[in-house]
Amino acid sequence: MDYLRLRGIGVSPGIVLGEVVLAERIIFTTRKDYIPPHRVPKEIERLGAALLRTREEITAIKDQVRTMVGEEHAFIFDAHLLILEDPSLTAGLERLIREENVRTESALSEVHEHYRRLFASIADDYIKQRQADVTDVLTRIHRNLDAGVNKGVPEDLRGKILVAHELLPSEAAMRLSQGGVLAVALDMGGPTSHAAILARSLDIPTVVGLHDVTQRVNVGDQLIVDGTDGEVIINPPLMVRKEFQSKKVKYEAYRMELRRVATWASVTLDGVRFAPMANIELPEEIGHALSYGAEGVGLFRSEFIYLQRSTLPTEEEHFEIYDRLAREVFPRPVYIRTIDIGGEKSLPQLKIEAEPNPALGLRAIRFSLRNRELFRIQIRAILRASVRRNIRIIIPMITEMEEIGAIRVLFREAQEELTSQGHKFDPGVPVGIMIEVPAAAAISDLLAREVDFFSIGTNDLLQYYLAVDRSNEYVSYLYKPLHPAALRLLKYIIGSAARQGKDVALCGEMAADPLLAIVLLGLGLRTFSMNPIFIPRVKKALRAVEVRTVRRVVQQAMNLRSAQEVEEYIIEKLLLKYPDAFLMTGPSS
Ligand code: PEP
Ligand code: MG
Repeated sequence: MDYLRLRGIGVSPGIVLGEVVLAERIIFTTRKDYIPPHRVPKEIERLGAALLRTREEITAIKDQVRTMVGEEHAFIFDAHLLILEDPSLTAGLERLIREENVRTESALSEVHEHYRRLFASIADDYIKQRQADVTDVLTRIHRNLDAGVNKGVPEDLRGKILVAHELLPSEAAMRLSQGGVLAVALDMGGPTSHAAILARSLDIPTVVGLHDVTQRVNVGDQLIVDGTDGEVIINPPLMVRKEFQSKKVKYEAYRMELRRVATWASVTLDGVRFAPMANIELPEEIGHALSYGAEGVGLFRSEFIYLQRSTLPTEEEHFEIYDRLAREVFPRPVYIRTIDIGGEKSLPQLKIEAEPNPALGLRAIRFSLRNRELFRIQIRAILRASVRRNIRIIIPMITEMEEIGAIRVLFREAQEELTSQGHKFDPGVPVGIMIEVPAAAAISDLLAREVDFFSIGTNDLLQYYLAVDRSNEYVSYLYKPLHPAALRLLKYIIGSAARQGKDVALCGEMAADPLLAIVLLGLGLRTFSMNPIFIPRVKKALRAVEVRTVRRVVQQAMNLRSAQEVEEYIIEKLLLKYPDAFLMTGPSS
């Protein structure tokens, strides 16, 4: 039998053999599906029903958005309704079905193509953007064609390998959170995309960046997904299956070792305690995180509540999620971060206008302070879930002191409201901030007086500080967490918190790298929050060193001139003394 090996990027380890399911992707093609003339009236009926369902859907979302976040976000759905109700669109679709005897899907594709050409000839950029709205409406109609059969229920992916062109954050959350997906293979994507992060958290072997895997597989094909080495094999013969079977056994043994480490105490060789915690995006990840030895949830990325659904969550829906987190993680702490949208994480419900520079735009707390009703609902729900006293609240992307003042007022109002309505909450719920904007780092001494704790978000902080977009292949080589500038900045932030007796955690990817975690330990950090699968190796590394030595070595390293010099110096000074700290690697590295 012919078989094919494809190379991609392994973003979540593990080896799996299974059957392919291709994610539905609505593609407007020029292929025509004809129907016999007597089917035409039925097809027109089918179109009519889909238009009706689409209208109801858009109206419902619009109403919800208007009451919860205001008119300015709802107007986009008015535009969608106008497109939907445009007689030239509906009459055009009907005419195509009648005159060309085609299925509604083909008529929609033809109309889509017509608009695509029309917009392509327009010079004005703003009007050009409106094509996205037409596509959006046509896609919704398409989805609603068979709504009676498959209404809102994602296909059953249990025990299957999901192959898709790409998974947007909302799709990843919706599809992977169902549970039971064996593995994922994508044409697009990189290691820091949210689909990748989520797959890692849920322990789903995943390979991305395969370019055209969707073109090369068919539903029902057998596939090996090797997320450890970034390989996908289509319809492997017996010999190849056997080879992968033995690799899988080796990998499973390594995983067992990880789970064993998870039960050990988090204490350094010289008796200093540290706390490994988990970054998660879904409550479903809690069990997995605890099994890897997480001593709490150090970061719950609450924006995923929004990304998983097509309507806005109500206060009760928020509450159920936070309550579940607090209950299942109890007595350990849960740090809930209020929504951080913007950049690649945009809210599907709100149709946020594209910004010229999203990384510097309306993100995180900036968005929440502009959409106070949305923020108020979230704060109320988190406070209500805080009765067990193990919830802490993190505010993302703080830039200046005034934001703290504004947040304080909103919290006070929410607390007064809840009290008057007879709700219970933790009156002393700790409220801390992410340090991920360089300006906040520079005034961290002042901020530490005003807040209960810091959580350092090095993913963003270093990106802004070093002026490097990590996903840009031309400049990503400049992203160096061991840059002496980065070490100095981190030391200053950690010291600012310590001088005020405040807790400080770090929840960027940096915390998941054993060498970098040792350096952070030397800088005074004790709480490390990361993707749960990395906890055992970090724990093993930190258990193998002494704080007093590491502190001295890191202090010396900060006077060196470059990241490379720092790295060489640290390895030279620590490798011989603590060889165990550097032992934990995967089976294939
Ligand atoms: C960070 O910026 O380091 C962080 C943890 O936040 P996120 O990755 O969600 O932006
Ligand atoms: Mg961040």
